Amino acid sequence: MTSNSQKEQLRDIPSVDALLRDARVGALAGERSLVAVTELVREITDTVRKTVLAGGEAPGLDEIIELVLQRAASTWGNWPARVINATGVVLHTNLGRAPMSEAAIKAAGAAVAGYSNLEFDMESGRRGSRNSYLSKVIADVTGAEAGLAVNNNASAVLLVLSAIAEGKEVIVSRGEAVEIGGGFRIPDVMRRSGATLVEVGTTNRTYARDYASAAGPDTAAILKVHPSNFSVQGFTHDPDLSELVAVGKEHNIPVLNDLGSGTLIDTRRFGLEREPTVQDSVTDGAALTMFSGDKLLGGPQAGVICGDKALIEQVSKHPLARAVRMDKMALAALNATLLAYLNEDAESEIPIWRMISASQDDLLARAKSWQRDGGIGSVVPGRSTVGGGSLPGETLPTSLLSIEAGEDADSIAVSLRAAKTPVIARIHEGNVLLDPRTVFPEEDESVIEAIREAAGPS
Ligand SMILES: *Cc1c(COP(=O)(O)O)cnc(C)c1O
Repeated sequence: MTSNSQKEQLRDIPSVDALLRDARVGALAGERSLVAVTELVREITDTVRKTVLAGGEAPGLDEIIELVLQRAASTWGNWPARVINATGVVLHTNLGRAPMSEAAIKAAGAAVAGYSNLEFDMESGRRGSRNSYLSKVIADVTGAEAGLAVNNNASAVLLVLSAIAEGKEVIVSRGEAVEIGGGFRIPDVMRRSGATLVEVGTTNRTYARDYASAAGPDTAAILKVHPSNFSVQGFTHDPDLSELVAVGKEHNIPVLNDLGSGTLIDTRRFGLEREPTVQDSVTDGAALTMFSGDKLLGGPQAGVICGDKALIEQVSKHPLARAVRMDKMALAALNATLLAYLNEDAESEIPIWRMISASQDDLLARAKSWQRDGGIGSVVPGRSTVGGGSLPGETLPTSLLSIEAGEDADSIAVSLRAAKTPVIARIHEGNVLLDPRTVFPEEDESVIEAIREAAGPS
């Protein structure tokens, strides 16, 4: 039932046409497409109508126009917009994973600002291949014979399995038939590739002999998968890669190693557990090693495959390789990122390594300056995480600015996100926590400004 006052209120909701005749909305329609703006205005008036029918109060004309303008600004603007990551999670998938180095950003821009020799052989003046250049760089950095880069590591795994194991069997440990996140499950990918999954061992213990007894005439490969986002503790065993390679040699089958994050730098240098390195995977004899471009490599979204030349060629020629090929911006950025490793500049040039290697003194000093200049909270010891499916459960000591907010923690976090450059913080037991590790030093001023505003009179 609609009451009389409701009827009145419904009648007073301005029509779409009336709103479009308003100068402010009209200006918007002049900037954007009239069709799109009309649609947006209709959505807003529909919402207002529903509010009234639900017993709510209809906003006035100015308020409705404000809603339209706000919706337009949030719908059509800069996206993805810059945010400040104060969560202390270095590889934060929701915040775009690895930020790229200056060199990578420049290279990506240059690659698309004009034409390039992407697929052009400068010597012969004929068509070249976009793979041959990068193959050599990947080989030089990883120690493998050859390499190939595709859209992301998920497609690298799918492509490699399709090219090498379609219609055949692939042996995987039960403990490694995992879901990586975002619905990427090894058993499903396997099915998509046309390969048959042969699971061996148990969830907690798998031995090299389990693989050996499963190997037969239909086996195309052994697949090793980095468990990425969990760790099994206690009564566990999984064979070393070199043991699997020995089994593979005996049965003449290649070992494929999905490292997930993979790293080119030994993480023990920073007081972390050892994340398997790409170089070790190559040296230990994996026929193909696959890893992400935007996890611990610190570059653009990519899936890097390195290993035996003949297998890389076989993979490159598979029809799926064309479907999952990389974009030229990402290719240029990946090349620049790999060159930083080749020049041994990665730790100083690549943001994630600067963050991971940040000194305790430096982090403490920055947290203190946030507290002093922001005028709120206290500095407490805490832990940062690497994230991105690398080093599960591993943390690094840090200093946090902690704003003890109790019930107001959510609203403080909201107001930090409403800052000119939004600041993303963590909430733990009523405290809003900000970690300087993942904040670029040149963003400190913006963080302080956001803290001041969030702490201001409320
Ligand atoms: C992250 C991850 C992937 C997927 O990599 P993307 O680059 O995100 O596509 C695949 N396998 C493992 C083990 C991973 O950790």
